[in-house]
Amino acid sequence: MTDYLSTGSLPDEYRQLAKTVQDFARNVVAPVSAEHDANHTFPYEVVAGMADMGLFGLPFPEEYGGMGGDYFALCLALEELGKIDQSVAITLEAGVSLGAMPIYRFGNEEQKQEWLPQLTSGKALAAFGLTEPGAGSDAGGTRTTAELADGEWVVNGNKQFITNSGTDITTLVTVTAVTGATDNGKKEISTILVPTSTRGFTAEPAYDKVGWNASDTHPLTLQDVRVPEANLLGTRGRGYANFLRILDEGRIAIAALSVGAAQGCVDESVRYAKEREAFGRPIGANQAIEFKIARMEVRAHVARTAYYDAAALMLSGKPFKKQASIAKLVASEAAMDNARDATQIFGGYGFMNEYPVARHYRDSKILEIGEGTTEVQLMLIARELGV
Ligand SMILES: Cc1cc2nc3c(=O)[nH]c(=O)nc-3n(C[C@H](O)[C@H](O)[C@H](O)COP(=O)(O)OP(=O)(O)OC[C@H]3O[C@@H](n4cnc5c(N)ncnc54)[C@H](O)[C@@H]3O)c2cc1C
Repeated sequence: MTDYLSTGSLPDEYRQLAKTVQDFARNVVAPVSAEHDANHTFPYEVVAGMADMGLFGLPFPEEYGGMGGDYFALCLALEELGKIDQSVAITLEAGVSLGAMPIYRFGNEEQKQEWLPQLTSGKALAAFGLTEPGAGSDAGGTRTTAELADGEWVVNGNKQFITNSGTDITTLVTVTAVTGATDNGKKEISTILVPTSTRGFTAEPAYDKVGWNASDTHPLTLQDVRVPEANLLGTRGRGYANFLRILDEGRIAIAALSVGAAQGCVDESVRYAKEREAFGRPIGANQAIEFKIARMEVRAHVARTAYYDAAALMLSGKPFKKQASIAKLVASEAAMDNARDATQIFGGYGFMNEYPVARHYRDSKILEIGEGTTEVQLMLIARELGV
């Protein structure tokens, strides 16, 4: 793996992967996107198609059923899917980077053998249960508890806004829970693997969201959920730190998805500006429209270089926390800004739900909120600067 990734000279295997996912997004995802969005239905057939392509196993070694690729390959796939359908892209992002990755990074061999093959195959999904009604940006404020009793963890609490947690193929949710107190009196937070079939685990009815309508999001209730002591993931007391590491990586993936959304808006706008006529000529002949589109392309390009940079640092084992936050911040803002401009370029049609730009307009806002809000990214960047 190279120390540096350039938008102009990607190695062949990456370009081929991006092209394959691009074809899938255009030919398989695009035709059903508007319908799933309108009906708020989870796109099982699309997920099965992504599973057949091996996308859920992209960054994992073959011994766990993976494709032997890397995290940047996942990002390229997310960018291509994000151009067409953010719900589909976030389903893959959450399945891989939040669902399977914690087990790969922090699980013992037995846990990896038990869970990873089904998750990397895409036949099953795992979810990441960090956020709670009273603990979002301040995720350390978790109130869910897990107590050891007779060789089992007894988990009690509520999780909120959890992606992929209630589909027919969801088999596992990894939750953070308070397992005691540290020597200096702080909460000891650990991570527990909770199979969704466990008694006392409930995925409550799905949220009615502004966007990402085809993505699965639920509040979770855990009431006297009993799982074996061996379901502790990673070291006891390291749960919060481990989840933060997962979020650092996840921000690069969300940045890639956001770049896809930003670029999807450019592509739609270029096409429409040539085709739509007003005052006897294409609207793109007006410099006001031309400049708007040029600026949209600038945002997408700059955001892409930011996530390539963060990914290159991560893959070469160098610190990447600040660059991941920068990428997440600029890319999510690029997606939101481009969605607003694209909707403007489409005029009244841009306000009609069936148009992809209208979907991007509704979908993009969450990119500035999920996996760390814009304000949290600014806090992290300032902290890295020693401010
Ligand atoms: C569709 C969707 C899917 C999600 N999927 C998952 C998932 O799979 N797993 C999971 O665990 N979570 C998930 N989340 C939760 C998401 O990560 C949180 O919503 C997000 O981190 C913000 O937390 P919050 O909603 O509690 O907002 P809050 O933390 O209450 O923040 C409210 C506002 O205050 C600002 N703020 C907070 N603290 C500060 C500060 N110190 N300085 C300045 N501003 C501050 C925030 O930036 C924000 O603007 C999802 C959310 C959504 C909407």
